[in-house]
Formats: sequence, C-alpha cells, structure tokens
Amino acid sequence: MSVRAVIFDWGGTLTPWHDIDLVEMWGAYASAFEPEGDPRVLAERLAREEISRWRVQQASSGADGTGALDQLFLSVGIDVSTPRHGRALAAYLAHWEPHTLADPDALGLLGALRQRGIRVGVLSNTMWPRWHHEAVFSRDGLLPLIDAAVYSSEIPVAKPHADAFRSALAAVGEPPRTTVFVGDRPWDDVHGAQAVGMRAILVPHSRLGDQAVDVAVQPDAVVQRLGDVLDVVMAWDSDGG
Ligand SMILES: [Mg+2]
Repeated sequence: MSVRAVIFDWGGTLTPWHDIDLVEMWGAYASAFEPEGDPRVLAERLAREEISRWRVQQASSGADGTGALDQLFLSVGIDVSTPRHGRALAAYLAHWEPHTLADPDALGLLGALRQRGIRVGVLSNTMWPRWHHEAVFSRDGLLPLIDAAVYSSEIPVAKPHADAFRSALAAVGEPPRTTVFVGDRPWDDVHGAQAVGMRAILVPHSRLGDQAVDVAVQPDAVVQRLGDVLDVVMAWDSDGG
C-alpha cells in the first residue's frame, strides 16, 4: 500500500513540546488590556476558562470541540470588536512566539515528503485562528509545504473524534489507507487516527502530565526525532506494508 499523504499534529509534533504556564501567558493579554489594573485577575479568569474548555474537550473525546478564542473571550465578557482587545490579542500571541518555533527537522522533512509526491496535511486541536497558525508556519518557511490544514477552532469537534480526522483526510484528498498520521499524543493522535483506518507514528517526547489519557495504544511506529518520519514513511511506501 503506497503512502500518498502524511498529516501532522502541530503542538509537540511539528513544534517541540514546551511546558506552558497559562496564567503567565494570559498575563501578556491582561497587561495590554488593562494597563492600569492588576493583570493577574483577568489572566487567571482567562486561564481558568481555557483550562475548563480543554477539560470538556478531553472528557468528551473531542465530541465537544475546542471552540475558538473569540468564544473564550465572549464567555468572560470581553467585547472582541474593540481596538483594546485587538492590541491585547496581539500582545498575547507575540508572547507565545518562542513556543511556536518549528522543530529543526520540520522544514527538511516536509520538503522531502513533497519531493516524493506525498501530500502534507496538518490537523491541530487549537483555539487559535487559522490566520495566526498560517503566520507561524509562514515565519518558519513551512506554509508553502502544507497542502491542507484543519484547525479545531473552525470545526465542531476535535481530536480524537473521527470527524476531525475525516475532515483532515478530505482536506488532503486521500483515503485513510494511504495516509499516515504523526502526533505526540497516544490518545488524541495515535488512537484517533488508527480508529479511522490510518497508520499512526508517535513522537513520544511531550510531557503531557494531567493532559495524558490513560489508555493502551500501539502506534504503528515510534520515532525519536521528527526527521525519522521520512524513513518510516518510505519503508511503508515501498514494502506494501
Ligand atoms: Mg500535540
């Protein structure tokens, strides 16, 4: 069976895992939104709301999606149409920048897959808007190498829900049997992809902590660095496996 497409998770896969303090991250938003006040109060509210949304998504196995940042802001009473919000959002996203840099292997890997006629996709559980993900990919030279991307902020479900994977397969235009998924989460990525009939490669370096789901999954392959995905995919492509 040939491999016609490879779909990647983003956080912890195309970009290395970082431990993130969400209150600290939202502090950048709050400081820009309320320069006179104590940023901690708003930062803690936003972090609590975000964590609660991730927990609902996880508890429902993705049947409840992540939603989008705008919904998160509205649920804490922030008017997203104001310039003040726009400035604060820009400060927040800029604060994330060091944590969004692509894995050093990503550019070479995606280019090598495309050179071999293999389509490249992305499926990410994220509240961020597409335009921001595209800016991040563009900064690192990856955007022209991605044929299609599906972000859970734009669909009603999230990984590991089958409909999230089906959306990504439809976006790259390949069936599951010729498509490989690459991710860092055994439940959301490996189990979810295998459940719709894709082969799944695990990149096992993320410290998932309480975001880990206790489940036994058997990845089709495990790679110790992102660039090793190429050898696995090429072996599957040539051996009919
Ligand atoms: Mg991930």
